[in-house]
Amino acid sequence: MSSLHRLVLGTGNPGKIEELEALLSDLSIDLVPSHDLDVPPDVVEDASTLAGNAEKKAHAFHEHTSLPALADDTGLEVAALDGRPGVHTARFAGPGATPNDNKKRLLEVLDGVDDRRARFRTVVALIDADGSTHTFEGICPGTITTGPRGDQGFGYDPLFQPEGHDTTFAEMPPEAKNEISHRRKALDTLRQFLSEE
Ligand code: IMP
Repeated sequence: MSSLHRLVLGTGNPGKIEELEALLSDLSIDLVPSHDLDVPPDVVEDASTLAGNAEKKAHAFHEHTSLPALADDTGLEVAALDGRPGVHTARFAGPGATPNDNKKRLLEVLDGVDDRRARFRTVVALIDADGSTHTFEGICPGTITTGPRGDQGFGYDPLFQPEGHDTTFAEMPPEAKNEISHRRKALDTLRQFLSEE
């Protein structure tokens, strides 16, 4: 793989962009957020796996810009729901669901359920300058709270308490989430891959 100097971030999610920028800030790579593109590609996330969606997003941005591209797809896997919503996490409450709709639905389906174990799983796809695809996975185990707590972060963060902590992701400063998150773990593997190249 040729070395990475510029990397387009294949997501329009401001929360993800902020985290990816913080998590990659020590690498000397010029990161291009999707909002810097005139017309970012609109990607339909209809693959059946997180890896499939991450690769689809990264490919679309790579083809659009001719730059190396990175995208992540993240799923919340709830033990009592046999690993759902998984790849359908963004539309758990139905097509066009907002983050609030999704959180409300999750609390409803887990109402009265004692087993609150869950994990976030992220697959990061990197399309390098040669057009080759590499994927990296990160998992963060935890539990689903019985109500929202905190206002940091994004998505399901107010409902997710990572293992070994008594606060939700949304109650932590962003740096603390970035120390332990699924996204951090996936990017640590990517970092290891880059250092070996
Ligand atoms: P996607 O990876 O952008 O498809 O996101 C899937 C769903 O998970 C969306 O509802 C996101 O808001 C949510 N999500 C992704 N990453 C995180 C995270 O780090 N914390 C909380 N929710 C997340």
